[in-house]
Amino acid sequence: MTTYRVAIVGAGPAGYFTAQALNNSINDERNFLIDMFDRLPTPWGLVRSGVAPDHPKIRTVTKVFEKIASESNYRYFGNVELGKDIHISDLEKIYDVVVLATGTSLGKKLGIPGEDLPGVISAADFVPWYNGHPDYVNVNPQLSGTCAIVIGAGNVAMDCGRILGLVPHELNSTDIADHALDVFHDSSIRDVTIVGRRGPEHAAFTSPELRELPKLTETDVFIKEEQIADAIARVGSRLENEKDLRSNLEAMREIAHADRRGNERKLSLAFLLTPLEVLGEGRVERVRFAVNKVIDDVVTGSDEVIELPCDLLITAIGYEAAEIPGITNERGRVANNEGKIRDGVYVVGWAKRGPSGVIGTNKSDSSEVVKKILLELPAAPKGSADISEHLNGETIVTHDGWSAINVAEVSAGEERGRPRRKVVSWSELLSLGGVKTT
Ligand code: NAP
Repeated sequence: MTTYRVAIVGAGPAGYFTAQALNNSINDERNFLIDMFDRLPTPWGLVRSGVAPDHPKIRTVTKVFEKIASESNYRYFGNVELGKDIHISDLEKIYDVVVLATGTSLGKKLGIPGEDLPGVISAADFVPWYNGHPDYVNVNPQLSGTCAIVIGAGNVAMDCGRILGLVPHELNSTDIADHALDVFHDSSIRDVTIVGRRGPEHAAFTSPELRELPKLTETDVFIKEEQIADAIARVGSRLENEKDLRSNLEAMREIAHADRRGNERKLSLAFLLTPLEVLGEGRVERVRFAVNKVIDDVVTGSDEVIELPCDLLITAIGYEAAEIPGITNERGRVANNEGKIRDGVYVVGWAKRGPSGVIGTNKSDSSEVVKKILLELPAAPKGSADISEHLNGETIVTHDGWSAINVAEVSAGEERGRPRRKVVSWSELLSLGGVKTT
């Protein structure tokens, strides 16, 4: 039996699914010892800080992660930052396999005038803020106006638009961060518009997310009937063959035809508008859009320009990978789709393929990379040096430390009928996690 040591950097879904695929490949001849690192004291990545709080079912995947973490071949090293506390070269010396599962955390920029005005926030800041990520506690979005615009026609835009459009008591029983719940309770936003630059047929929403919208009882949802009818006419016979397209357009047609309840809160989906400029004196007041049309499935501009009022602008147009020292980083990825960076170093998840796919996509993606890892395992493992020798043990949050944080959050939540109340300060997380902070 040969035992290989594997370092997985990033404790999100891609990291855990890599560990799972490695565990599934353990046999009489090979075994793996898996050390997982994360710069946060807490694991679970986007499942903790990305998934919308009103989507608790998506979070149940953490049961899979916890099972992996409970195995005797797994160790967690939280509060360890790659490039600062530990370097790729240290990992390469000790581990037979290094897997980078560091995601893509930076919001893409629109690159238009006015984008830096106060009141314009990237979803890459807004989402971790409402989800209680300790680095985003001070994002402080101003919800004191009445109209919000979310730019982007993907599921992140949908999450942001829906969370802004919900009546806040619908969030009371979720694990949304306390600071965000307070802000949403005080919010005066009543009109939210999600804006796509292409047509409904090109939208990146998935249909379960669209089909949720008519179920909102205290928010009226609007799509212009003619935008959907035009899209259906444009796609023509493709509707018969393209299941996802058909499902999306049907879901949007149902929304367009639905009876409204006369709710004060409104959530609209608008299409064929390219943002040109963010306008306002000292903060965002309006957004100027070019009105587009679709000709032969190609979106082109027209001479028409419109301005929509806007007190809060969220840009949800995708993400880019942050630099990892020593690793080439191109167009939101740290490696090409093959998943290999250099001998023994691999990349999985959004860091590999860019910011696309739902959580489950990482399972097949990680399995593919693990197949490659298995083929390329060295004949002899590197030896018995332990990474603990390179780290300051007093600052590490171990799996036991994370378990203590988890128990504290869940029991604080139970008192209020919530799944958990997240701890959002670094010092409290570290101290609960067993790290002396003084
Ligand atoms: P996405 O699905 O790629 O959507 C990005 C949107 O931004 C697209 O509509 C894109 O339009 C638009 N966009 C890009 N650049 C733009 C620009 N300069 N101006 C205007 N619009 C622009 O990305 P995402 O919403 O960030 O989601 C990332 C991944 O996470 C997706 O696979 C998504 O399904 C997944 N996710 C899933 C869930 C869930 O399952 N509930 C929740 C959140 C996220 P074009 O198409 O025209 O480029």
